[in-house]
Amino acid sequence: MQAGVIIAGAGFAAGEAAVRIRQGGYGAPITMVGAEPHLPYHRPPLSKTFLAGEAAQETLLLRPESSYEKLNIGFVPNTSVTRIDRAAHTATLSGGRELPYEKLVLATGGRARPLQCPGNDLAGLYTLRTIGDVDAIRAHFDAGKQLVIIGGGYIGLEVAAVAVKHGLLVSIIEAAPRVLARVAGMEISAFYEKAHRDAGVRIVTGQTVQALTGSPEDPFRLGGVVLSDGTTLQADFAVAGVGLIPNTELADVACLKVENGIWVDEYCRTEDPDVLAIGDCSNHPSTFLGRRVRLESVPNALEQARVAADTINGKMLPYAAVPWFWSDQYDLKLQAVGLSEGHDQVVLRGDMEARSFVVFYLRQGVLIAADAVNKAGEFMVAKRLVGAQLRADIGALADPAVPLKSLLTVG
Ligand SMILES: Cc1cc2nc3c(=O)[nH]c(=O)nc-3n(C[C@H](O)[C@H](O)[C@H](O)COP(=O)(O)OP(=O)(O)OC[C@H]3O[C@@H](n4cnc5c(N)ncnc54)[C@H](O)[C@@H]3O)c2cc1C
Repeated sequence: MQAGVIIAGAGFAAGEAAVRIRQGGYGAPITMVGAEPHLPYHRPPLSKTFLAGEAAQETLLLRPESSYEKLNIGFVPNTSVTRIDRAAHTATLSGGRELPYEKLVLATGGRARPLQCPGNDLAGLYTLRTIGDVDAIRAHFDAGKQLVIIGGGYIGLEVAAVAVKHGLLVSIIEAAPRVLARVAGMEISAFYEKAHRDAGVRIVTGQTVQALTGSPEDPFRLGGVVLSDGTTLQADFAVAGVGLIPNTELADVACLKVENGIWVDEYCRTEDPDVLAIGDCSNHPSTFLGRRVRLESVPNALEQARVAADTINGKMLPYAAVPWFWSDQYDLKLQAVGLSEGHDQVVLRGDMEARSFVVFYLRQGVLIAADAVNKAGEFMVAKRLVGAQLRADIGALADPAVPLKSLLTVG
């Protein structure tokens, strides 16, 4: 077999990279090897419309099978890359097959971090990363059932919003003093806690889960969640959304640098220029942040797929995107750009009560991040303002009568 590009993984980053590599003029074989049975699909709907039963499985696919066929992109489903031999330029697949490569792209994403406590092997505890996970969780979606969500991050909150709308009795347990503590400022956390409480979700912060206990009818099935203050919440089932572990084992074994993700340069190359890494599994230098970062977002996976494809086709165009993300809960569309950590000033534009506003975060007078709720138009401008690291006029930022666009020319 002729050596070409092997992509380990067939998620969002892999699917985008494969297409872009071919469209960029690459002539040799391109093969995606995916541990899941599916062609690359969108994960964001898994905790939103797909969980709600509002989106059919086919609509999750990035592209239909025919698109990959037209571009002569191979796909090996239900198969893992188990080893790479950098000296021989070969990838070994589960089952033992060995494929030669010219360039290898690690697009292995991550897996849900398992909950670490006694009872975590009980039936009825789930994590949410794949279509299969949603199928299992949805089987419990009957009105009146008690769902305990462990972790008040985006995934936990999105699951809560869908579940409570389906009539489930939902509790969220968050170890930090507020939900979204790792990713958003205090104002946004408070806003979302209120939105969820108003919808009927019980939110418990500052408590960890000490143990899961079996139900009286079946000791092997979840019945209760014991918190650090000693209270026990009854639960018919639970979903743990407590973070992601990047899948870095292939890089580890191949002696490539791994530290909170597989280290790549601004061209998505690992220390071995013939091995690239993209998406949730990779850790890249961000010019915008002035440091290395591992991001778990679709826009990051998209940008890295673009960069890797260009690199493989000999066009050296470095990573240049500003991190951004979105989350849908109830009627609330949150769009976030930049990272708010380390901010020393917060500016509110709009009306939180009206559920339509932007929160800007500044550090030493410089705009570093913005969270927009139901403000898609202003978010597009905010993205550019944050990208430009605007030295902002606070009065103008806060005043909805001053068009944000007018700030693009100053600073
Ligand atoms: C429920 C949920 C909701 C989300 N919502 C949002 C959102 O609203 N906005 C947003 O921007 N992002 C969201 N994300 C994050 C986003 O989906 C990820 O950032 C994106 O999927 C990353 O793509 P990836 O290709 O790097 O990894 P993945 O999508 O994880 O794909 C990696 C694939 O590689 C496979 N694999 C792993 N190891 C191997 C191996 N050795 N061999 C072969 N295959 C392997 C895995 O099975 C997996 O299929 C959400 C994620 C989840 C789980």
